[in-house]
Amino acid sequence: MHKLKDTAILPITTSAPFWYKRVADATLVISLAILAVWGSRFFAPSLAQSLLLEVPPYSVVLATLGVVASILTHFVQHNWFMKILSALSYLLALATLGIIIFDAGTIQTPYTGLWLIMSLLVGIFGFAGVGFLLLVDTAYAVYLILYLQVNEETLVLFGLLFVLPVVISYLIWRHNSPHEAEREKEQAYSALAKELSQVTNKSEIVINAIGDGVIAVDSKGIIQLANPAALQITGWGKQDALELDYRSVFKLTDKNDKVPDETADPVQTVLRNNTPVKTKDFSLTTNAGKKINLSLLVSPAGQIGTGAIIVFRNISDEVSENTQKAEFISTASHEMRTPVAAIEGYLGLALNPSTATIDDKAKIFLTKAHESAQHLGRLFQDLLDITKAEDGRMTNNPSIIDVVNFSRDITTTFLQTAKTKDVVLIFQPDTNPTSANLTPIYYANVDPDHFREVLSNLIENGIKYTKQGDVVVDVTGDDTHVVVSVKDTGIGIPAEDVSHLFQKFYRVDNSDTREIGGTGLGLYLSRRLVETMAGRIWVESEYGKGSTFFIQLERIAADEALRHMEESAPTPIIAHSNPNNAKP
Ligand code: ADP
Repeated sequence: MHKLKDTAILPITTSAPFWYKRVADATLVISLAILAVWGSRFFAPSLAQSLLLEVPPYSVVLATLGVVASILTHFVQHNWFMKILSALSYLLALATLGIIIFDAGTIQTPYTGLWLIMSLLVGIFGFAGVGFLLLVDTAYAVYLILYLQVNEETLVLFGLLFVLPVVISYLIWRHNSPHEAEREKEQAYSALAKELSQVTNKSEIVINAIGDGVIAVDSKGIIQLANPAALQITGWGKQDALELDYRSVFKLTDKNDKVPDETADPVQTVLRNNTPVKTKDFSLTTNAGKKINLSLLVSPAGQIGTGAIIVFRNISDEVSENTQKAEFISTASHEMRTPVAAIEGYLGLALNPSTATIDDKAKIFLTKAHESAQHLGRLFQDLLDITKAEDGRMTNNPSIIDVVNFSRDITTTFLQTAKTKDVVLIFQPDTNPTSANLTPIYYANVDPDHFREVLSNLIENGIKYTKQGDVVVDVTGDDTHVVVSVKDTGIGIPAEDVSHLFQKFYRVDNSDTREIGGTGLGLYLSRRLVETMAGRIWVESEYGKGSTFFIQLERIAADEALRHMEESAPTPIIAHSNPNNAKP
């Protein structure tokens, strides 16, 4: 929307009616004064004679009419009537004075002063009024020159008393006359109206050109606008859809094929809370009864109670493509994992001195092959887990775990790996012999497999990205949360990479990491798993100095944990890590 031109905003301080009434007031005073002078011949004839204030009968009639017009100006409401009456009263007063002056045969009468006042007011009627009065003045000047043959002095006086006030009036009122102000106001309004209609047209063009469906509903959910894409997606005609309740046109169902109730309906939620809702959890049943997957964004139209704007897109193709892709990855990973596991197993057997005898050179080659087979196996496992997490097949079987003990068990499984890399792996709660008693018991109700997977990933990364130094696993917390941290003194993460670290396939690409193998899936999967556990994962890192990864889970109070355990198992068992399931 471009800026409105400056002319659209006018400094109109006093309205036109105000000035029309003031003109009427002035002419009323002048007309009454003339009538008073005329009347004075009856009450004080000597005074009237001595002042040479002769008023001809025509003028009396005109002055009376002028009085009536002036008074009427105050009683009409409409601007135009007011303007006409005000101009009429002005003309009548002008005619009254003109006749008197003309009759007097000289411009040197007291009435010339009144004419001068009238001349100063003429600018209020704009250019037309000024032009008219100048014409009258010119005609009178011609009369003075031709018929009365006045001298130059009188002509100069005429110019000063008759013409100059008109010019001054024009200059004074040029910008401020109500006539001018009204004209400018009208211009401004028409410019504004033009501007608005252009803006409306533009918005309409834009809304119609949008490929996504756009439906605007009022606060009661009645459809006020639907663009062609919305009509095409829903299969409704424009005239049929407008003014209908959106639920008749925009038939949503949730993932369980149920019509959402008031609290779950995204449009109702926006109308109620006035905060936008973005979701892909709903399907739409078209007018022809076909079901399509939707990407949906509902935003408030303004203040609460104004309405909502629904923007939606048919993502059925995307969804089926993603499902097919996920199915392919899942099947391929599953199928390939089996032979890779077999290769890994046989290589293990070949490397085991009790099952095979090989020379040193072959041992080096087979060790490398064994490592690669393990890596491949992990990659397939990660891919499988990710497809599960993404298509909603990821199971979540929470049970109560003692986080300190559980983390200790997992850490222990990495001691050997750490040792081969010159890295000291420390489980912080065990560093102080008395701390075992001091560390509180932190219970959490989470899926033990998910937790193991995440912590293993972090410890494995800590060791992998530390050439030499320490990796410290610690468990802290407060009344409501437990935080497990994995701190290393490794290569650290550049600040610009930190925000992307938990994205799929993201790897920091620099000279430090190029040599270190990886898939960029571990942290992404960890984030998905932590989210499944209703927790939080984040990292604090200083490039070149080391990183600390944190997992925050909800802490369960001891009595509640015991109650849970009693409910879920006949013999209370605190889940412990099963080292066989952990990653090497
Ligand atoms: P992968 O390690 O297989 O590449 P991840 O998802 O586990 O994949 O990690 C993603 C990226 O984050 C890694 O490539 C690495 O650049 C960086 N990263 C992860 N953990 C650490 C760490 N402890 N220290 C430094 N960089 C790390």
